[in-house]
Amino acid sequence: MITPEYFYNKLKIINPGACIHNYTLSKCEEFVPVINRINELKKKKNAVILAHSYVNPEIVYGVADFVGDSYGLSKDAKKTDADIIIFAAVKFMAETAKILNPGKEVLVPSQYNGCSLADSITRDDVITLRKQYPEYSFICYINTNADVKAECDICVTSSNVYNVIENCPSDKIYFLPDRLMGLNIIEEMKRRGICKDIKLWTGKCYVHEEYKHEMIYQLKFQFDNLKVLAHPECSPEVLHQSDFTGSTSDLLKYMETASDGNAYLMLTECGITSRLQVEMPEKKIVGSCTLCKYMRSNTLDDILRVLENPEDNDRIILNEDISLKALTCVEAMFKYAEK
Ligand code: SF4
Repeated sequence: MITPEYFYNKLKIINPGACIHNYTLSKCEEFVPVINRINELKKKKNAVILAHSYVNPEIVYGVADFVGDSYGLSKDAKKTDADIIIFAAVKFMAETAKILNPGKEVLVPSQYNGCSLADSITRDDVITLRKQYPEYSFICYINTNADVKAECDICVTSSNVYNVIENCPSDKIYFLPDRLMGLNIIEEMKRRGICKDIKLWTGKCYVHEEYKHEMIYQLKFQFDNLKVLAHPECSPEVLHQSDFTGSTSDLLKYMETASDGNAYLMLTECGITSRLQVEMPEKKIVGSCTLCKYMRSNTLDDILRVLENPEDNDRIILNEDISLKALTCVEAMFKYAEK
């Protein structure tokens, strides 16, 4: 059982400018009874809660058993012997957990669980594209819905995207759905001396698209020891001005060994900034970040609701054929990621 005082002391360091909530003691007094009820029910029902780093800190630090990025969390889901997985994130991530754990009950607490990237392309779009480009290998980012993965050859994450594209035997690639990540792939392949014909879909993450390179110039002028860390869903112009690019897990790993003497600008969703403020308070984080409206729609109340009494639309249910085809696509990633 945690107390409001304990929770407030843990979260009060989070800068309200980088997060939805200003963590006051009275706010924590509201959260803590719900947190304690969720943690009690989790044990009783043999459930685990997986939370993406982008969801609200009261979920990350109050009830989550595992916190991380979409692929890391799906692997965590595979390791657990829990009967129920509650995935506090967005729907495509919970679908990936279900693809990897077809025998487990996977529940999504959020009612607003879309994603501007995943929802930019449908299964029918991919079927049409495959007819149009029959000689191309179709590579999809993990931020796609299960039925889209089922129509693609290989899946990638932001950690292994460049290696998978390099190692894929085809020299004709259709990459979807993230156009900005696709432009970064084209640049990285040129840098590696790899010649491939790469076509792109038009999807964008509305959170990472927000960052502009002009903002980096301004902050570099203000802080001469500034290090910029960016997610590969940002534009190539932003990545050119950055000191390090990587998935959310890669950004956190980088910060573990980063010097305390620099200032850091995190070009990704605010969840990473708030995790750094709580877990590495000695690091100086500057600038602003952007919130993902889909991730932030996860609430403690909805987690409690699905634990107590899940409804059909809280459950991830996948057609068996789609699930098996999507699994083949995800498993192909392992073959090419490390080669
Ligand atoms: S941050 Fe972007 S890619 Fe991630 S869930 Fe939100 S909209 Fe989708």
